[in-house]
Amino acid sequence: MLLPADYHMHTPLCRHAVGEPDEYARHAVAIGLDEIGFSDHSPMQRDDFDNWRMALSQLDNYVEKVRHAQKNFPKLTIRLALEVDYLPGHEDWIRDLAGRHPWDYFIGSVHYVSDAWAIDDPQKLSEWKNRDSFEVWQVYFERLTRAAESKLFDIIGHADLPKKFGHRPPENWAALYQPFLAAAARSGTAIELNTAGLRKDCKEIYPHRDLLTEAYRQGVTITFGSDAHAPGEVGMNFTDAMALARSAGYQECCRFARRERRHVRF
Ligand SMILES: [Zn+2]
Ligand SMILES: [Zn+2]
Repeated sequence: MLLPADYHMHTPLCRHAVGEPDEYARHAVAIGLDEIGFSDHSPMQRDDFDNWRMALSQLDNYVEKVRHAQKNFPKLTIRLALEVDYLPGHEDWIRDLAGRHPWDYFIGSVHYVSDAWAIDDPQKLSEWKNRDSFEVWQVYFERLTRAAESKLFDIIGHADLPKKFGHRPPENWAALYQPFLAAAARSGTAIELNTAGLRKDCKEIYPHRDLLTEAYRQGVTITFGSDAHAPGEVGMNFTDAMALARSAGYQECCRFARRERRHVRF
């Protein structure tokens, strides 16, 4: 059985992950993956934007670390990528980043629903109490829709992230994710099955089966990611993610090289 590529993993440069790319690659080989991709949190234009990403001056070092792993594990395909925050107004910066290295893909993620609040930040968990949960979900999907429309990204990351700490989506959330999926289908942007949700309070893969089933219906393609922040998390729960994808109708996922997409069965 061919396991899907694990396209979502971090490095210590983001200041909240452990293990060098070589160690992630070693674990990938041990569990039988044939392809992985590093997608650490991209630098912002201002290094003091927050404290959970590499500084801009470390970007070249990040690329070197990934190249090093590529050299040491020649039989494993290792892609060079970034998980890029989508915030309205950052589009030029994201284009700038895209031109700096020969990236294989960009994962576009919405963590910020305002310039100051990342909904998944455990340090800012109390902010949820000051907010109307419906409004958070609404703004989240508005931003996700803009990210999918922008064509700046190959993949949209963890497409129902607000559930991370157990804040469930509203009853009628199909009305929120429909425009997002329509935008992803139009722009040809994939979405990822991200197994990190199983390790969080929500205890679920991102995104929920309802969203995924509609994604399949609309022709949106998928990738798989563990969102590993430690070598032992590489490929974690991929059989669960594959089963979820199949239950939504999927038999194919996609892989990227130099931002070109191809489809493979899984
Ligand atoms: Zn993320
Ligand atoms: Zn991530």
